[in-house]
Amino acid sequence: AKLRSTDVNATLEKVLFLIRQQSRDGTLELVPELSPGLPAVLADPSQLEQVFLNICLNACQAMIATRRGGRLTVRSRAGDGTVSVEVEDTGPGIPADLRAQIFKPFFTTKREGNGLGLAISARIVAEHGGHIGYRCPPEGGTTFTVTLQQARPQR
Ligand code: ADP
Ligand code: MG
Repeated sequence: AKLRSTDVNATLEKVLFLIRQQSRDGTLELVPELSPGLPAVLADPSQLEQVFLNICLNACQAMIATRRGGRLTVRSRAGDGTVSVEVEDTGPGIPADLRAQIFKPFFTTKREGNGLGLAISARIVAEHGGHIGYRCPPEGGTTFTVTLQQARPQR
């Protein structure tokens, strides 16, 4: 991977543009909450874009499957030496008995899924020295979080 100083917000804007094309019928509400002045991360921007697109598409597909619409919130924020991205959906959540499997290659619950999105995303994030996780709160929905290290200041 070609690592360079990368603006996570710019990557998220690209993903939001693509998602917006997919959800033009208006049943899904897109809510970007991108923190201004985010520090750069050292990353391969096209690989990061793939990760965020995978996660956002999963979220949209989960909400569309309910036929009740929903809201996708995409957040970025700086932490202590980190930049984190949260993708929150108001979909059905991930059934507890499937949670151990979702990062496995070829695991899918979709008729036309290939089950590779999260496996590839987890590999990319690990190669960047970052962390990917998710939670399904009792009130419903799913939130995926990707945490990356801030780039060291360049001279
Ligand atoms: P695919 O999208 O091809 O099914 P993924 O690896 O991207 O493969 O996802 C694996 C599975 O994880 C999905 O089939 C789905 O069951 C579950 N999943 C992922 N994200 C969500 C989400 N936001 N809400 C509900 N289920 C999800
Ligand atoms: Mg997927």
